[in-house]
Amino acid sequence: MTMRVVKSIKTMRALIKKAKAQNKTVGFVPTMGALHEGHRSLVCKCRRENGLSVMSIFVNPKQFGPREDFAKYPRDQKRDELFAKNENVDIIFYPSERLIYPNGYLTYVQVEQYSSRMCGVTRPGHFRGVTTVMVKLLNIITPDVLYLGQKDAQQAVILNKMVEDLNFPVTIKMCPIIRDRDGLAMSSRNTYLTSRQRQEAPMLFQSLKKAKRMIRNGEHNAKKIMRVIRSSIVNNTCGKIVYVVCMHASTLASMKYIRGKVMIALSVKFGHTRLIDNIIINVK
Ligand code: AMP
Repeated sequence: MTMRVVKSIKTMRALIKKAKAQNKTVGFVPTMGALHEGHRSLVCKCRRENGLSVMSIFVNPKQFGPREDFAKYPRDQKRDELFAKNENVDIIFYPSERLIYPNGYLTYVQVEQYSSRMCGVTRPGHFRGVTTVMVKLLNIITPDVLYLGQKDAQQAVILNKMVEDLNFPVTIKMCPIIRDRDGLAMSSRNTYLTSRQRQEAPMLFQSLKKAKRMIRNGEHNAKKIMRVIRSSIVNNTCGKIVYVVCMHASTLASMKYIRGKVMIALSVKFGHTRLIDNIIINVK
């Protein structure tokens, strides 16, 4: 099948209907474009596991705050199309802003509590924008499987909760974080970093690995772990810490004593560029 670039909801629905009539499962990878190896890993898995693989490219204005980078977010339709074609994506859904949010748009979806923690503290409204657009995309594409990256772990937890609470018949698969050679998690926003910031940024993952080693060596006090992460970042970079947290990986509840499936997540700002990273570990 040659790749289709679809810009209308009607065409999208017709193609999905046809695939389902042929008993194909539909896998879906939502993105904001500026595609990189992180996206590639999601698409590869999606293509391997489904009869029809759909990727959406939509820079969603509702998930950007008024002083955030919506206007300058990298956009390159031709490059992204070629990237997707090389990965044998079947359909790119490329809606316009007007199609998703027509004049007079009024409906929003929000997962309470989970959306106001971590990134939600300094980015109020961000996750409301994410869940709103995802509900729309899930209604249009009706996938069997939704592929999300652990890179945006809070987003994945929130979308899991939304899908469960709203009874969407979709399975969510969370895929591992793809990193550059030096450990920096790949992100479309890494291109904003100056060369000095780029050199310092791998310290985020290094500090998480240090925390993991401490836990493996028997340290279970969350405060101590977070203190070590903070000082690694403060002492070795010019970045400003937004948060460092230890939480239960599926409920985002903070923990004092590290046990069970634990997510250690952080966000650090280099200049205006906010980077995030996390690790998930099972602690007996
Ligand atoms: P974005 O285009 O940044 O909205 O990301 C689209 C999807 O790709 C999300 O599910 C992200 O979590 C995922 N993703 C982005 N970067 C990475 C990465 N480095 N490794 C794995 N998944 C990623």
